[in-house]
Amino acid sequence: MDSEKRQLHLFFFPFLASGHLIPAIDMAKQFALRGLKISIITTPLNASLFSKTIEKSKTMGLDMNVLVIEFPCVEVGLPIGCESYQLATSLDLRTKFYQATAMLEQPLEKLIQEYAPDCLVASTLFPWTTGVAKKFGIPRLILHSMSFFSTCTAECLRLYAPHKKVSSDTEPFIIPNFPDEIKLTRKQLPDFYTQNVQTYATKMYEQVLEAELTSFGAVFNSFYALEPAYANFYKKVLGRKAWQIGPVSLCNQDTEDKAQRGKEASIDFHECFEWLNSKKLDSVVYVCFGSMANFNDSQLKEIAIGLEASEQQFIWVVKKEKNDEGKEEWLPDGFEQRVKGKGLIIRGWAPQMMILDHEAVGGFVTHCGWNSTLEGVSAGLPMVTWPVSAEQFFNEKFVTQILRVGVAVGAQQWARFLGDSIKSEAIEKAVIRIMVGAEAEEIRSRARELGKKAKKAVEEGGSSYSDLNSLIEELRSHGIAGAASKN
Ligand code: UDP
Repeated sequence: MDSEKRQLHLFFFPFLASGHLIPAIDMAKQFALRGLKISIITTPLNASLFSKTIEKSKTMGLDMNVLVIEFPCVEVGLPIGCESYQLATSLDLRTKFYQATAMLEQPLEKLIQEYAPDCLVASTLFPWTTGVAKKFGIPRLILHSMSFFSTCTAECLRLYAPHKKVSSDTEPFIIPNFPDEIKLTRKQLPDFYTQNVQTYATKMYEQVLEAELTSFGAVFNSFYALEPAYANFYKKVLGRKAWQIGPVSLCNQDTEDKAQRGKEASIDFHECFEWLNSKKLDSVVYVCFGSMANFNDSQLKEIAIGLEASEQQFIWVVKKEKNDEGKEEWLPDGFEQRVKGKGLIIRGWAPQMMILDHEAVGGFVTHCGWNSTLEGVSAGLPMVTWPVSAEQFFNEKFVTQILRVGVAVGAQQWARFLGDSIKSEAIEKAVIRIMVGAEAEEIRSRARELGKKAKKAVEEGGSSYSDLNSLIEELRSHGIAGAASKN
């Protein structure tokens, strides 16, 4: 068959967590929209989360399917069904979770043997997939889950270790040789930077970096106009190959698609939509901390008090289970009664993208996960930044200092599980700063401009649209070269 006409087949293998699966499905859809065949490799529980999206894509004529592999919970001592990273709620469980992911090598190889895909697009957190792809003579693309800014920050910390040259955890240091002056403290860094012992996480991080240097390249959920200095830094200074094809969430155009991303929402989306329809333009602040971040009862209470004191309308997503007596200790007495009609609490999973895109929403309190950050940017919203974990403190700097579309609530301490304590007064103040007054208007107009640029990037002829074309072309020529060398 003429290889130029042959349909390319891509294996997508995202890490098993909502913050990775959601953008991966959106990204896979972008490739499928260009006529490529996509197989998503995942485990039974995760496959069930996006089965509706896959069914819908098929009705749209897209060539997308799911190939299911079992997750070895029992073999590593994880509870049965612990197939998603957010279910691994202790350090021990997380280490076991990573061990289980490394055991997916054989089932993945079996699938590659059976289906002979042209390329393996696999999460950064599966560094071993570069070796698997090499074994089968296909390129491995890194499915990146961070921004260029944060990836470059992480790499410069590794190269120059400025955090080792300060005398305390609170003394700020500057990232050396960086396009902008970015100050951080040791307290804001993931714990593996500050631990001197080798752990599973530190070893894994080394493998991730090595894989980044030996893979075909990386695909980023970002767009050129958002972070040109850092895209250039990544490519020219760090010398790595990358394509930026985001914001991938923008492939969800109708309200139902937006509402169905990730998981079944805990609120009927019509009810949520109606509630928002009854509100004025830019009058609601949306408060959500992603799929992983957690707070204790007293912190949640502070958020409730802060929101009420801000006198703003809000949607607040709380992922806290009721206690053994079926009570919600975090809820101030009479809170829901007092804020009735003005504030909506979603207990569980929110249809985030649909909410952010609604014109009544005028601000976003976010934990700065990269997806949420980019969704906030795409919706043209001012943000209150409240980083908790992972690379979220880096994203906060990006939002507040580089993009200047957000204000920090004042979190200072990186945490693996429970977010830093913030007083209600700080929450109230930060929410007011992005919702009312001259400063809010100034931030909003900058945010709106960015939102427009985000949409333009994915339109035909936009930078992300073109970068996706070039990537597909490169994969095609690689496929042709590969096929020729096999003959
Ligand atoms: N999300 C959602 N509803 C929720 C919480 C999160 O739809 O109630 C989505 C959100 O839109 C984003 C993803 O889940 O796409 C979370 O990814 P992010 O990188 O922001 O944070 P993480 O969960 O990885 O910390």
